[in-house]
Amino acid sequence: MNALTRSGFACIVGRPNVGKSTLINALVGRKIAITSDRPQTTRHTIRGIVNKPDGQLILIDTPGVHRPRTLLGERLNTLVSDTWSEVDLIVMCFPANEPIGPGDRFIAEQISQQQKVKKMAVVTKVDVADKETIGKQLLAVSELGNELQINWEHIVPISALTENQTALLSDLMLEQMPEGDLLYPDGELTDEPEQVLIAEFIREAALEGVHDELPHSIAVVIEEMKLREDRSSTNPLMDIYAVIYVERESQKHIVIGKGGSRLKEVGTTSRLAISKLLGTPVFLDIRVKVAKDWQRDPKQLNRLGF
Ligand code: GDP
Ligand code: MG
Repeated sequence: MNALTRSGFACIVGRPNVGKSTLINALVGRKIAITSDRPQTTRHTIRGIVNKPDGQLILIDTPGVHRPRTLLGERLNTLVSDTWSEVDLIVMCFPANEPIGPGDRFIAEQISQQQKVKKMAVVTKVDVADKETIGKQLLAVSELGNELQINWEHIVPISALTENQTALLSDLMLEQMPEGDLLYPDGELTDEPEQVLIAEFIREAALEGVHDELPHSIAVVIEEMKLREDRSSTNPLMDIYAVIYVERESQKHIVIGKGGSRLKEVGTTSRLAISKLLGTPVFLDIRVKVAKDWQRDPKQLNRLGF
């Protein structure tokens, strides 16, 4: 084994919309985490693996932490702090173009309690801020660290969109990892079950373009996924049966659209992404069902995998 090999887990954190998913995509180089211009699209802990000549970074994208209002919110927060205590490095994102606010402070206070875990700060979206603003933000992040007794190993300005300094960031992150054998020697890009990713693709497509009409209260469950039996191995077809759960009848109509037009679009968009992921053609059957107030019902939450 090369003595300099490093391998470990890093968690990218920050309030919704700061660019966590986009950063993970830039680091991993393949679309695995879901981005959206709407906050909190990522509900599941999605991992991407960055393979480098001298080691491996396993990235974890946690859902946005927020003050819990629903049972789902509480469960997500517990999931997040459990995850944080198990990683080697927490990377907290602050956008360059917005001042540090209560949402950022809330999360910074939470991570300051993880005393055994190394921490780094990233100032994101530097492509949309001028030099002076970026400088001020770097200083503000440093001061926040002093105030909360967070020892930032580095504070790195980056743009995930233009991939400015993202390679430097992954080098600095890898330096923080423990020495040792690669944790994922085969170097798979993700160890997230395919079905979770597929559900995320469908969710992303279902939320696309219905800006203020559809809240985040939708969930996708993959009920069945199997290769079509009468196909040869050179001509495979994957059958996927999915259900989109919404909370109310009215939301069902939004997802389905006039004469089924929106649902058809959702199917087409997500089928393309899924075929790409699996490398096989896909037959996708999506139904829409109402699961009333699922965010508040423990039985429903369990069934939906939270
Ligand atoms: P998350 O909620 O923290 O995961 O944030 P996302 O990765 O979903 O990004 C939120 C929004 O910010 C999306 O519209 C992204 O396109 C945008 N965004 C993310 N990174 C950058 C960046 O480096 N530059 C710019 N200009 N926009 C970005
Ligand atoms: Mg995200």
